[in-house]
Amino acid sequence: MRIVLKECAWESLGEELLVLTDPREVLTLGDEDGQVAALFAALGRGPCTVPELQGRLAAAGLSFSEADVRSAVESLDGLGLVECESDRTLGDPDLDARHRSNLAFFEAFARLDRPRADFVNSLRRSHVLVLGVGGAGSSLVQCLAGLGVGRLTLVDRDDVESRNFARQFLYHHADIGRSKVECAAEWVRAYDPRIEVRAVDRWITCPDDLKDLVDGADLVAGGLDGHPEAHLWVNEAAVRAGVPLVVGGMTRSQVTYYSVDPGRSACVRCDWSDHPTAGEASPGGFVERNRAKLMIQNALIGPLAMQMGSLVAYEAMRYLTRFEEPQAAGTFVKLDLRNGLAPERQPFTRDPDCPVCPR
Ligand SMILES: [Zn+2]
Repeated sequence: MRIVLKECAWESLGEELLVLTDPREVLTLGDEDGQVAALFAALGRGPCTVPELQGRLAAAGLSFSEADVRSAVESLDGLGLVECESDRTLGDPDLDARHRSNLAFFEAFARLDRPRADFVNSLRRSHVLVLGVGGAGSSLVQCLAGLGVGRLTLVDRDDVESRNFARQFLYHHADIGRSKVECAAEWVRAYDPRIEVRAVDRWITCPDDLKDLVDGADLVAGGLDGHPEAHLWVNEAAVRAGVPLVVGGMTRSQVTYYSVDPGRSACVRCDWSDHPTAGEASPGGFVERNRAKLMIQNALIGPLAMQMGSLVAYEAMRYLTRFEEPQAAGTFVKLDLRNGLAPERQPFTRDPDCPVCPR
């Protein structure tokens, strides 16, 4: 394996070596005798194997065993400062140009045993089922397409209407009256012909309506509206199939998203167990009896719809590449419009008798 030093700057200061990879922080390494600076200088000359690096250090008058050099490289790998030369790109000039920023993003997460291309290829191999291509779904589809997710199945039943134009930037004026999901699929094909996209114009009225769509998907993202328990159907279909789920939604003053990692995190049905019912004589029951009436006028505006779509897409990216652990698994993350969109985390209540979670 040929080792490459990632883009960084370094400078000796007294008995320390200062290293900069991200302007927000300076990494300080102890370097009493200048050996660490010599290691950076040797690596900075270009890609090399461990024996070649050992040779470069020897030429600089520093004699180390191969095991010592290997151990030093492992320490740099632990700090995220090196990567392997192969698979820093996708190996095709067109694809590399198209994914330039995606590859650059994953540089920070690449390690000697996991090159940048591996993250991007995970996305290119993934199949995401997108539920709803309206408010949040519209920007979610755009984000997933930008990441290069290889296969998208889009589900919706609405037609494009004039009232969608405050927030659904996938559509054009000339699309009014056409099937939303067909227009969304057309957008994806025009944006990146390499993405395989399927449009499904279907009403979802129970978990079984989703079964054939969830089977074979790597992730379910989006959210259905139109029925107060639609999110429970989606949760049930995804958890039973063992497919992670990421959902976004909005109330009058909160943008919310959450995810479910089947069998690992609590699911939405777990949390629903102590949810107030519409028949209950309590403030919670009053909310449930009247919630639907308040949702008639959808107040989701463009900036918030895009925020929600991008948060869902970013969490989806965590599941699909595992560049870091999902941050909203079994947790509502709520951005509060009354408090400058500050996020607040509310973990689901886990129900040991949940009828949906695997035993
Ligand atoms: Zn559950």
